[in-house]
Parts: sequence; structure tokens; C-alpha cells
Amino acid sequence: MAKILDGRALAKKHSMALKERVADLSRPPGLAVVLAGEDPASQIYVRRKGVVANRLGFHHRQIDLPSDVTRDKLAAVVDELNADDAIDGILVQLPLPGDFDSAPIVNRIHPDKDVDGFTDVNAGRLARGRPNVVACTPKGIMRLIAEAEVPLEGKRACVVGRSNIVGRPMAQLLEQANATVTVCHSRTWDLADIVRHSDIVVVAIGRAEHVRGVWIKKGAVVVDVGMNRREDGTLVGDVEFEAAAERAAAITPVPRGVGPMTIAMLMENTFEAAARRLGHQTDA
Ligand code: NDP
Repeated sequence: MAKILDGRALAKKHSMALKERVADLSRPPGLAVVLAGEDPASQIYVRRKGVVANRLGFHHRQIDLPSDVTRDKLAAVVDELNADDAIDGILVQLPLPGDFDSAPIVNRIHPDKDVDGFTDVNAGRLARGRPNVVACTPKGIMRLIAEAEVPLEGKRACVVGRSNIVGRPMAQLLEQANATVTVCHSRTWDLADIVRHSDIVVVAIGRAEHVRGVWIKKGAVVVDVGMNRREDGTLVGDVEFEAAAERAAAITPVPRGVGPMTIAMLMENTFEAAARRLGHQTDA
């Protein structure tokens, strides 16, 4: 039976350590979260981020905007936060309502305050192997893999999903850790065959239990990013958990796997942005 990579416990340990470091700064790190519209899932995510930020002693500000907010108004809010000295990190909760193209708004965030790591500047720096702010979910996954004490060098890894917020940066981080990476997506032929030959499997597609347990190579490390809500309200990942756990050496559960680490890394990115702006050294 696989070791369960408990993201909630690791995030808690991480938060306790970060809270101590917050006390060393001359003022609390400032995080601004912009929420446009009333998407229920976004409201839950934003609330969770606020709870953790407050628990860590951050200065936290939530800016709620109506679902019919204009592009100009959103841009003005980002501009104000860019210029606000008490704010070190800005997060615009995605998806934006309606048919908004999120890219121009996200790219309006100053790269130093882009604690999600979603701007073209920060994504480009990661792609070039000179990361500045790294996207929270892949960064948290690297910590979870480190917790499993699995060396990545030379290993075969596959990343299922190629989104800009998870799959693509994840593949880059694994490659930069000297794994040999295959990126799979909706047009990939014979996904099962690629998964079967992979020592590390990271799945971020948003399809309940799409990756079958029998595909998993014995002794592989499996990271399940997917969060799919069943009709009865329960959450399920993109991997068939029970069957995969019988074959894997280590596996993340859903919930309590990747999700808490994503929030923990958002806090770390915000702390580091504050430390940089205040002229402190960081050792993370
Ligand atoms: P996107 O919808 O942006 O991307 C999904 C990716 O999956 C695409 O690259 C798509 O391929 C690929 N895909 C879809 N169907 C298949 C298939 N049958 N076989 C192989 N690949 C497929 O999703 P996100 O990356 O934003 O999120 C993925 C999941 O992770 C969601 O469940 C989301 O809720 C969850 N998530 C969880 C987080 C956490 O903190 N726990 C954080 C972020 C996301 P193509 O490019 O060809 O369309």
C-alpha cells in the first residue's frame, strides 16, 4: 500500500514555520485578493486564502467586484494595488466572469507582486530556467514529491494536462529537476501506455478517475491535482485512488493532497515578495 502524501499536514507544518518568519519582517506581508462575480467555487477558494492569510498574521484585503465589472474598472483596481506600498502580492481569482479574457488583466499585475506566478514575465522566466515567482500548485507539488524522498534525476515523469497554471509549469519544474518528462493532453494517443512507463505521474485534467489504477507502474509516485465534484457533493480526483494506491509507492489523496499545498505556496510567495520589497534575505 502506498505512502499517503498528506498535503494538509505538510501545509500545516509549512505555515507554522512561515508564521515565525513573518515576525522577523518590519511589517506584515500584504496580500490583496480580487474577486469579480459570484462564482460559488471561487468564493470558497478566496475565503480559504483569507483564513490562512489572517492565521499567518498577513495584512489581507479582499476586493469584491460585481459580475458586470468593466475591463477598465478591473484594470484600475490592479493599478491601484500595484501602487499600494502595503500590498506585496496581488491575486485576481480566475475564472473572471462572462467572456473576459483574463490574460490582459493578469499581465497588468506587476511581476514582483504576481504571487500566483501567472504573468507572462514570470511564466517566461520559469520556462527559461530562471524562475522568479513560481505558480503555486506546481511549486507545492514539488514539495510533496520531496516529502516522498524520491530522487527525480533520470526518472521518467509524465504530466497529464498542459494548462498554463498547472501542467505546463509542472513539466518545466520536473525537467529542471532532471527528470525526463512527457506531457500528455486531450489529443495524446494511448495515455495508458505512457502512464504505465512513468515513475512519476502528475494528473491535472479535471476528469473524475480518468487515470485507472491498473495503469500505474509498481512503485511510482502519483500526484492527483484534479478536483471533481460528484452528484452527492463529495470530491474525487482525476486518478482512481484505491486501485492506484495498491501499486504506487506514494500517492496524494483528494481532498487533503495538493489543494492545501497550493494555498501554502501562495503564502510563501507573498512572504517572499514582502521580504524582497523590504530588503530582507529569504532562504526558502
Ligand atoms: P484546464 O481545463 O485548464 O486543463 C485541462 C488539461 O487537461 C488540458 O491540457 C487538456 O488537454 C487536458 N485533458 C482534458 N481531457 C483529457 C484527457 N481525456 N486526457 C488527457 N488530457 C486531458 O484545467 P486546470 O489545469 O486548470 O485544472 C485541472 C484540474 O486540476 C481541475 O480539476 C482543477 O479543479 C484542478 N486544480 C486543482 C488545484 C489545486 O490546488 N488542487 C489548482 C488548480 C487546478 P488540451 O490542452 O488538449 O485541452
